[in-house]
Amino acid sequence: MTGAAESLMRMRLRVAQDVFAVRQLGREVARAVGLETQDQTRVATALSEVGRVLLAAGQDTEVAFTVDLHGVPTLQVTMEHPAPGEAGRLAEQLQQVGRLVDTMEVDDGGSGTVVRMARRLPPGAPRLTPGRMDDIRAGLAQHVPGTPLDELAVQNQQLIAALDEVRAQRDDLARLNAELEETNRGVMALYNQLSEELEETNRGVVALYAELDEKSVQLRAASEAKSRFLANVSHELRAPVTAIIGLGRLLTDSGSDDLTEEQDRQVELIRTSASDLLTLVNGLLDLAKAEAGRMEPNWSDVDLRAMFGQLRGTLRPLVTRSEVDFVVEEPAVPGIRSDEVLLAQVLRNLLTNALKFTASGEVRLSVRPSGGDLEFIVSDTGTGIPPELHERIFEEFYQVPGSKPVSGKGTGLGLPYARRLAGILGGGLRVDSVPGSGSVFTLQLPAES
Ligand code: ADP
Repeated sequence: MTGAAESLMRMRLRVAQDVFAVRQLGREVARAVGLETQDQTRVATALSEVGRVLLAAGQDTEVAFTVDLHGVPTLQVTMEHPAPGEAGRLAEQLQQVGRLVDTMEVDDGGSGTVVRMARRLPPGAPRLTPGRMDDIRAGLAQHVPGTPLDELAVQNQQLIAALDEVRAQRDDLARLNAELEETNRGVMALYNQLSEELEETNRGVVALYAELDEKSVQLRAASEAKSRFLANVSHELRAPVTAIIGLGRLLTDSGSDDLTEEQDRQVELIRTSASDLLTLVNGLLDLAKAEAGRMEPNWSDVDLRAMFGQLRGTLRPLVTRSEVDFVVEEPAVPGIRSDEVLLAQVLRNLLTNALKFTASGEVRLSVRPSGGDLEFIVSDTGTGIPPELHERIFEEFYQVPGSKPVSGKGTGLGLPYARRLAGILGGGLRVDSVPGSGSVFTLQLPAES
């Protein structure tokens, strides 16, 4: 390791006065190679301590200053003393001194005891080029050691500076401690305030949830009462309305007495009104049953080809206009596990609506797989529905204002019922529609129930 080192200066320690000289020289060398002031004092102090201890062991000590330029430039000092076997004792005495430098080793060399110290140069130190090394050597050769008194004065100054620094550091520490205490108090106060606020907010949230629970219980009760009422009323209405229709038919029967033309017209009016009422009552009853959760699907393997065929056949009579093409595609999927009656009911509702609101163009039914689901699509080229009403049309009795069916009438119960059924079948119903262009209703159901 020392082979890579560049020699700077050597000197010999013989008498007590030389301890001062080596201290001064050490500081000079440290300054010349670029160590900072505090490090200069550290190196100088370490040197004079080691020098003092070695001198006490008698005989001369050789001191060599070198610089290792490999890797991080390092100032190295080697002190060789001819008395062998002193290493252990010296190492113990110099333990404290070792803390002043980066490394300190005490060895028993072949010819005596060797103490090696090293201190790394700071990153900002000027580069030690060969020219610079020559300059340093020349400067050190000129160095004239001062008297012990001079050295004492320098040491005193350094001591005063060190004491000042310690005091400044102590003051800083006290100030920092005070600030820390203050901050801690502030943080505690903030923490307490936040905990209180949190507690208060929590109390509020708990109360709000309790109220919400209560409200949803009330809401559920109200909704159940409504469904019960609807089911009862519509059930009770069905019999008399059916009777009115029957009586009306009897009155106009060929076996009955002849009616005047006016009477005939009025009885016909009663019959159609009663029949509309029956449709409404039936719709209400269906919806009430679906809402009351009393509808249990009857799961089976549904043959979609057969179902589509039936829909094609039963709905064709509703196509009263030649401008409208009614297309039921061949199903792209052979079957589905579902409730046949409920599924057909939803598709019938959607197709009836499409035919009702389409004056020309096409009404089409198709089915296709989508992910793990099947999508039944009913599209038309009819009046369409404004986007802001896409959800409202699924509310009971809601009909798009101003929209007149091309044919037939409506109750505003078909879509809410269809959506309920879709839910019961484990899926959903949605609409995409552009006013003037048409609508696409998509019934999405799981392929497997
Ligand atoms: P309705 O018995 O009136 O058809 P629905 O619940 O089935 O009741 O539909 C609600 C309303 O949604 C309809 O009155 C109509 O305004 C609108 N609607 C439904 N389907 C269509 C469609 N295919 N094209 C245009 N409007 C539609």
